[in-house]
Amino acid sequence: MKKMLLLIGLSLFAGRLQAQLTPFELSKDKNYTATYAEVMAYYPKLVKQYPQQVKLFNYGSTDVGKPLTLVVVSKSGDFDPAKIKQQNKRVILINNGIHPGEPEGIDASMMLVRDLLQKKKLPNDVLVCFIALYNIDGSLNRGVSRISQNGPRAYGFRGNYRNLDLNRDFIKADSRNALAFMQILNTWQPDVFLDNHASNGADYQYVMTLIETQKDKQQPLLAEYTAKTLSPELYKRMAKSGYEMVPYVESIKRTPDSGIVAFLETPRFSTGYTVQHNIISYVTETHMLKPYDKKVYATYDFMQHLIDVCQRDARQIGELKQRADEQVKQQKTFALNWDLDEQQFEMISFKGYQAGYKPSDISGFNRLYYDRSKPYTKEIKYYNTYKPTLTADKPVAYIIPQAWGKIIDLFKLNKVAMRRLKHDTTLTLQTYYIADYKTGARPYEGHYLHNSVKLNTINDNRVKFYEGDYVVYTNQAINRYIVETLEPQGVDSFFAWGFFDSMLNQKEHYSDYVFEDIAFDYLKKHPELQKQLDDEKAKNPQLAQSGPAQLEYIYRNSPFYENTYMRYPVGRLLTNTQLDLQ
Ligand SMILES: [Zn+2]
Repeated sequence: MKKMLLLIGLSLFAGRLQAQLTPFELSKDKNYTATYAEVMAYYPKLVKQYPQQVKLFNYGSTDVGKPLTLVVVSKSGDFDPAKIKQQNKRVILINNGIHPGEPEGIDASMMLVRDLLQKKKLPNDVLVCFIALYNIDGSLNRGVSRISQNGPRAYGFRGNYRNLDLNRDFIKADSRNALAFMQILNTWQPDVFLDNHASNGADYQYVMTLIETQKDKQQPLLAEYTAKTLSPELYKRMAKSGYEMVPYVESIKRTPDSGIVAFLETPRFSTGYTVQHNIISYVTETHMLKPYDKKVYATYDFMQHLIDVCQRDARQIGELKQRADEQVKQQKTFALNWDLDEQQFEMISFKGYQAGYKPSDISGFNRLYYDRSKPYTKEIKYYNTYKPTLTADKPVAYIIPQAWGKIIDLFKLNKVAMRRLKHDTTLTLQTYYIADYKTGARPYEGHYLHNSVKLNTINDNRVKFYEGDYVVYTNQAINRYIVETLEPQGVDSFFAWGFFDSMLNQKEHYSDYVFEDIAFDYLKKHPELQKQLDDEKAKNPQLAQSGPAQLEYIYRNSPFYENTYMRYPVGRLLTNTQLDLQ
């Protein structure tokens, strides 16, 4: 009998060991998020216990020198991305801790991975990949920097080791974290992506809010499925499990009862970048003022529902992704910028708290407060229509001089198909000159961002390229990434982020007293330019009355002037020209 009890006791103990509780679960008040060291100590134990179904993969490095760890769970035990594709399985990629002060996903994923394994709940047709902790750098810098937030009691900092907000880094890719992320995304090629966050802003009743890829930015086939099937199902299931959701709350005025605006994830954001790869994408945003455990459990439930619905719709999602990829290969016109259509809105039910103003105890001036004793349910306006304000027609191919190495590296990482010129070649193609642009007065995320770019388009420009320069045909599933980064007017184009700033300075000029005589000689030999100057003077009194302006006019219209100044170096090949390619 004694022996029997001992055995029961031992097996209970073993059962508890097997449970692999997370540091969050082990903490008494559930107001604790795992440290990076704890996360890294936790997953290997699961691997040891379930070596067939879970594997860890390390990618590249983050800015703090540690690799990015991907946790992959696979029911069949296959971990070869090519084989997974062959087996027509779906892949979900879940990102955690891009903002380490919003760590719900880190703790929830640790629990979920364990439960999927332990409770034998791994989906048949879906492989799930978790980035254990994306902003490792920030998470090591632990403190209480999100002072408006209700827990956990300590957490990492938003900026990474270079003080970058990594969720603005997906086009410029300054951080090594972003490069490792691109490696992961393009290796596993997910069908569905989720980025776990916590919100700032207004107070209201919901624990969980959701950003889905903005429907007018998403590929139409995927947008229809997301808006009509996947998202409603997720809303329904979350409500059933006690976490009713609402779209992410960005108030059009001060408080949400004035109406809320759908978030526009431009390509700099994780989900703006994944949408360029035709990936259905979500961002969860738990509410900062709810207790930490509720935020973790809500994130856990959302992930579980997402996995379940993806399993249910695995075949459909796969077919849609394939069709979307095919359509994007054929797509001719691409939106580069979007604006909210303030005329369009729908009414949604919203559970808020009454907002009011009262004198501040500090200043005596009026301050905002939300009265939790006065909850309300109201119909509010939800603005979720964006219109493209600028579009570009794709060329047959872009020609990128190899000098722009960072772009070539990023394109390679993103599996953009590229060919190279076999010989030095002069091509007749369309080029842009930057006619005007504005630049922020202060740096933003490490760059002086350009905007309001105006172009002067020159057709049939003859431009010399060199052996080894890159040719990017625009018949690719990843066309959106190609066009949105290479068209300089795009809100998050490489040009906007300052990749081509060296083209914006003139390298040579003239000494006016010397050029006077040379220009006079040149005009004598080129009466057509003399006529052009006279015609221009007749139209433009400022030119007519200025000696230096006339000299400059002759210079700019002569072969002495450098034609590379302000020339956007990526050429646009508009016709199917036969090229000699490597
Ligand atoms: Zn965030």
